[in-house]
Amino acid sequence: MNNYDVIVVGAGVAGLIAAGRAAELGANVLVVEKMRRPGIKLLITGKGRCNITNSDDIEDFMKNVHPNGRFLKHALFTFFSKDIIDLLHNYGVETIVERGGRVFPTSNKSVDILNALLSNATKQGAEFRYNCKVTNLLINQDGVTGVEIIENEQKKQITAKKVIICTGGKSYPATGSTGDGYILAKSVGHTIEQPFPALVPIVTKGNIAGQLQGLALKNVKVTVRVNCKKQTEAFGEMLFTHFGLSGPIILTLSRFIVKELINNNKIDISIDLKPALDNPKLDNRLIRDLNKYGKKQIENIFKLWLPAKLIPVFIKECGIDPTKEGHQITGPDRNKIKSLMKDFRFEITGNRSFKEAIITAGGINTKEIDPKTMQSKLVKNLYFAGEVIDVDANTGGYNLQIAYSTGWLAAESSVKSIKENI
Ligand SMILES: Cc1cc2nc3c(=O)[nH]c(=O)nc-3n(C[C@H](O)[C@H](O)[C@H](O)COP(=O)(O)OP(=O)(O)OC[C@H]3O[C@@H](n4cnc5c(N)ncnc54)[C@H](O)[C@@H]3O)c2cc1C
Repeated sequence: MNNYDVIVVGAGVAGLIAAGRAAELGANVLVVEKMRRPGIKLLITGKGRCNITNSDDIEDFMKNVHPNGRFLKHALFTFFSKDIIDLLHNYGVETIVERGGRVFPTSNKSVDILNALLSNATKQGAEFRYNCKVTNLLINQDGVTGVEIIENEQKKQITAKKVIICTGGKSYPATGSTGDGYILAKSVGHTIEQPFPALVPIVTKGNIAGQLQGLALKNVKVTVRVNCKKQTEAFGEMLFTHFGLSGPIILTLSRFIVKELINNNKIDISIDLKPALDNPKLDNRLIRDLNKYGKKQIENIFKLWLPAKLIPVFIKECGIDPTKEGHQITGPDRNKIKSLMKDFRFEITGNRSFKEAIITAGGINTKEIDPKTMQSKLVKNLYFAGEVIDVDANTGGYNLQIAYSTGWLAAESSVKSIKENI
């Protein structure tokens, strides 16, 4: 068969949901996937556990989305967290809610989510073609009429009434998400907001982070300064790596940081290791311990204040003789210790690449997509869903939910439009 109602480009999360829903509504659906198998990225989500969605309500959900969460309002109302959980339950997947409203499969296996979405799409009657890359959109004066593909090194054309582009972003390109959707959309006139890596580790100047590699800090406050001005901050957990900084709060801040780096701004990060103590309280604590353990070497007293890995770095940075005893620590020494604890600073020199970014920020400009249908405002019969669109979210299950909601809405509105035109 070479004339489908709906062609779905990409068998990732958005594509699987869109294909299942369009087929359920009676459309004959072809899913074209360039990799050997579907949902490769889905398998690595949540470190293999898959953080399926989030239990936030829609208002709070939208606050976690950038740059414009309200674009998703209609999609989220059409198909939200309860809907994906119900769909998964129908295929035997049980779920649990963890810290921060994060929903996971009880089995802790992302493959269970993939199997459920794939079973749903095939049960509803969607057809799949793998190792089949969409290279062009077919278009005439009425809009999109199908796709050009490369299969077995041969160019072919497949026609359809509607095409839904679900090609994802550019992050983790080994999973198949290499930015093809941007090229396809641009070829028919869409504006692509510059894609950039987000939820990505960042690179720091010097070798201090490297010396601390593997150290995770909990309950710290991180402040980002742009051109020496405080801009944003986050509280929680972070991690030192051989190249710089990572971990939950760094990933969350990375979207902001990468954007500022693109604009050639000077960024530094200040870590407050003792956010619960203001300067006078911290000073009192240091004085108390230095007096109490006056006969101990400062190296040992530091163990009361900091994780072991930080101690040699702190002693060196403060320029204190490590053999000094507590009672020998001077006021200026104490001030240096206090300042470093409240403002452990790193200059940011860059970010890790798309290869290590959980999400791609940027993408197809949302002003050119009808939020009520996910249809292109520029080209008829063309729809978009998932990460290819210029929306991205914080960690917590939001990004997958965006893929389900936009995929579902694109499927419903494309099939509705076919039925109206019969
Ligand atoms: C390591 C990691 C962990 C993550 N963990 C989570 C998590 O726990 N929770 C969460 O909410 N989000 C998570 N995310 C983000 C989430 O995986 C993505 O937002 C989501 O997969 C996007 O879905 P999508 O369908 O838009 O794109 P993708 O899942 O990227 O799928 C796109 C598909 O299109 C195919 N394709 C591309 N170009 C073509 C073409 N030209 N022709 C045919 N096919 C094509 C690709 O091969 C791919 O199969 C994680 C991401 C990563 C990288």
